[in-house]
Amino acid sequence: MANDEPVNTGEVNDEQVTPEAISELAKRRGFFFGSSEAYGGVAGFYTMGPQGAALKGNVESAWRDRFAVKEGNQEIEAPTIMPEPVFEASGHLDGFDDMLVECGECGESHRADHLIEDETGIEEAETLPIPEVEALIEEHDLRCPNCGASLAGRPVEDFNLMFETSIGPGSGQTGYLRPETAQGIFVEFGRLKEYARNQLPFGVAQIGRAYRNEISPRRGLIRTREFTQAELEQFVDPERDEPSLDDVRDVEVRLYPATEQEKEGGDYLETTIGEAVETGVVANEWIAYYLGIAKRWFERVGVDADRFRYRQHLPGERAHYASDCWDAEAELGSVSASGDAADRLATDPSAGDWVEIAGFSYRTDYDLSKHGEHADESFTVFEQYDEPKTVERAVVDPDMSALGPEFGAEATDVADALRDLAALDPDAFGGDEVVVEIDGEEYAVPTDVANFRVEEQTESGEHVTPHVIEPSFGVDRTVYTVIAHAYARDEVDGETRTYLRFVPEIAPTSVAVFPLLSNDESLTALAGEIADDLREAGLSVAYDDSGNIGRRYRRQDEIGTPFCVTVDPEGVEGTGPETATVRERDSTAQIRVPVDELADELAAVRRGRKTFDDLRAAYGAVETADA
Ligand code: AMP
Repeated sequence: MANDEPVNTGEVNDEQVTPEAISELAKRRGFFFGSSEAYGGVAGFYTMGPQGAALKGNVESAWRDRFAVKEGNQEIEAPTIMPEPVFEASGHLDGFDDMLVECGECGESHRADHLIEDETGIEEAETLPIPEVEALIEEHDLRCPNCGASLAGRPVEDFNLMFETSIGPGSGQTGYLRPETAQGIFVEFGRLKEYARNQLPFGVAQIGRAYRNEISPRRGLIRTREFTQAELEQFVDPERDEPSLDDVRDVEVRLYPATEQEKEGGDYLETTIGEAVETGVVANEWIAYYLGIAKRWFERVGVDADRFRYRQHLPGERAHYASDCWDAEAELGSVSASGDAADRLATDPSAGDWVEIAGFSYRTDYDLSKHGEHADESFTVFEQYDEPKTVERAVVDPDMSALGPEFGAEATDVADALRDLAALDPDAFGGDEVVVEIDGEEYAVPTDVANFRVEEQTESGEHVTPHVIEPSFGVDRTVYTVIAHAYARDEVDGETRTYLRFVPEIAPTSVAVFPLLSNDESLTALAGEIADDLREAGLSVAYDDSGNIGRRYRRQDEIGTPFCVTVDPEGVEGTGPETATVRERDSTAQIRVPVDELADELAAVRRGRKTFDDLRAAYGAVETADA
């Protein structure tokens, strides 16, 4: 195997990497593929194959480590089916819609806003009102992408994206498959705040499935009907709680603020989190904090910082309750991100094909207030003052012996309405008579019957409805991005090879172990022992003894295995300790390591405690060819 010639040119091939090339590799090597294909398949559902499931599991573990464990947050797992009242309260039943237009010829359904964006270059068409969307379809004579028939004059309708189901037999209770994991956290707020000992701020994380009956699922894992989200709900008192901004002040970010998007030829703002807060570009400190934490996390799992940006929502694009929202976007086009293309991507926001992979939104107290209005529970936290406070409170003590004869069955409601009015508008009690309204009807009460007075009261604290900051990650989109950004080609031994440059922490297979010759017992026995040791050290290991060694390396390169350990005759001959070669995927460089040090060293690299360069410095490179 030894050879004096360096074989890897080290140059990443500048050829275009297409989404088709990625999905072909994904299918062939077991990352992901359309599901139920034996029955013709159904659009929008994907199965993660052996490599994909392992890769996704590693991405989820890295997310859990960062957003739950390191932040000191709780993690929960709620059901994916929830009863109808939850979604009445959350607003999903009324407002979780996309715009649908159906072809009059072939009956195929399309997302009207996407057709407009694809055909006219108009951006964020989902923010337009339906009549305007219908007019644009007519004006641009948009046609059915399936059969080519004109869509002009076809009605555009709101289509609710939730999957409905029935809970229990018979007519049962209506339920819905959750369209986001967040509601499972909000509805359990009462218990979760107790686990947090009623102390704000606290965060609750959840990784789980979400379901959306997308009108036209597309682009593989990017828009599916069943997908995995990783969401964090950070509950804070907005008057008092602050994030540890110092931890992220110097994180560099590429921002695309709303003001720049609205300008003709607007620019990126290359800045740091600290500066973005000081200049007010990111107004909310909690959002800024999580943009910083998430930027580092995306880089940790292998997202290319040159193909990553934060784009602020335009005012019309934000949910009505959100006061600010930024999306993490990844560039997933077929542009090779080197040379001129890289320069353009870095300077021209209109270059590249950007996809939202996570959203960071400041949801104010909207969610908890809504559940507070609809459910029978309180969605507040009682915050104790440092010292009890004496406050003046307007109170009433209605004389029921007067209200009863006057208002009969309504007397108790009138008394309650008087109490509410005293808290809201004490001035209403200034005259001889006070008027309250119940269900549209007015009731006049003499002020002396209400017994209105202002009292001094001592209060030890107050009930606060927490505000929510929500970082929401699409796990499948992140996995796709990691694959797309890892995809590379170069030349080894005069041949083009395709490889995935996964970081060791998330690579689905950590190490492959090969006996150089499959018919030599001394080599196969030792290779088997090494594989066992590596598995014992927590690494995911592939064992392969078939085909020539070059082909075996190439198979591992294509699934992104960072290291291949080869047991060769040189390592078992002689009287010294047994050794094996370790070949690093990207450089194809090799080192020779004593067998009993392999597991510790490779596990350290997997955990990010060492790099291959550290090992190379410790053991020295061996000049070898890949074939
Ligand atoms: P949203 O609640 O729409 O902001 O979604 C939160 C995150 O979930 C997004 O940033 C996406 O990464 C992911 N996501 C949303 N819809 C889909 C979908 N149909 N397929 C895959 N991922 C999705």
